[in-house]
Amino acid sequence: MSTEALPILPGATLGILGGGQLGRMFTIAARTMGYRVTVLDPDPASPAGRMADVHLQAAYTDAAALRELGETCAAVTTEFENVPAASLVALARYCRVSPGADAVAVVQDRGHEKSWLAQHGFATAPFALVYSEGDLDAALAATGTPALLKVARFGYDGKGQARVATREEARAAFRGFGGQPCVLEGVVALDREISVVLARDDAGHCALFPVAENRHVDGILDVSIVPARVPHELAARASMVARAAADALGYVGVMAVEFFVADGTLLVNEIAPRPHNSGHYTVDACVTDQFAQQVRVLCGLPPGDARLLSPVVMVNILGDRWRDGGPHWATLLAHPTIRLHLYGKDSARPGRKMGHFNVLDADPAAALDLAERMRDAL
Ligand code: AMP
Repeated sequence: MSTEALPILPGATLGILGGGQLGRMFTIAARTMGYRVTVLDPDPASPAGRMADVHLQAAYTDAAALRELGETCAAVTTEFENVPAASLVALARYCRVSPGADAVAVVQDRGHEKSWLAQHGFATAPFALVYSEGDLDAALAATGTPALLKVARFGYDGKGQARVATREEARAAFRGFGGQPCVLEGVVALDREISVVLARDDAGHCALFPVAENRHVDGILDVSIVPARVPHELAARASMVARAAADALGYVGVMAVEFFVADGTLLVNEIAPRPHNSGHYTVDACVTDQFAQQVRVLCGLPPGDARLLSPVVMVNILGDRWRDGGPHWATLLAHPTIRLHLYGKDSARPGRKMGHFNVLDADPAAALDLAERMRDAL
């Protein structure tokens, strides 16, 4: 870690590894607060690169680019967990880095993550690690069927996952993934899915955003409803567990914990070492949003107030909507309670996250009703 004097104040330059929509919203938050921003992303059309003061177009492992980023920035953060931990270690020689390589290394591999959760007493779906075909029988016995075979690295939004019911299906799926390390997980009967986004600073002060209730379609987040429609006691427990996970990781930054609610109990699904799609509601509905929190904690400032100002429903806009002439923006924007966020991506592929909108209404049922109507009308 650098000797950079904390807190880092407006006027300083902040860096981010990764230039997708999360990096873009970080960049907007940082620039709004008066910081300069440098984005490292190999993609010339990077959504964050377009918003940044400087866009370094290079690979995340490019030593010269990492050095330039580290030497020109007071602090660097990341927008995705697949950043090589070695790059974070390299950067830390030049400047402050949050989150740290150790925490990212734990959660960027599903196998490490699940083992870490189990070792630290966090309940998860039944799972087993699969390194070779020979592991499959014991793994299936441990998880039961049906089960989900998930690649340990680089899977996201339901990609790199296969549902399997038999030994033959499991074998075929494992081969289909090229024999790379996987986690086999028992399929849980879900009552709901919820998540907690939090910001934790160097001193361990934590600000927790309200619990979001998340609906997924084909493994991709579709809608987040806040406050989550779960008993107060369950929401409080989820917040407590999320905080305990951040404490156990010694985490500094913004992170999200996704939970399954099954039979009234909480199971940790996964931890994201960054702001999260299910926290996009905070941008319009909270005193401090998740990206401003990322800036604050990165700069050694205490987390801001995470209080909810209004019930809100967030709806993701995927590339599929561009199929028949594009979304009906006028229909959406006719509603004064809707806030639209588009990420400035050039090409709309099916399943690609292009933007989202937040519906704010003092009446949570009215917010959900309008969100669902607009989701279908778009
Ligand atoms: P993941 O990428 O692991 O977060 O999975 C994406 C989505 O697939 C989750 O949000 C759930 O909706 C579903 N899913 C994943 N794992 C399980 C499981 N073990 N049991 C039931 N549903 C699951």
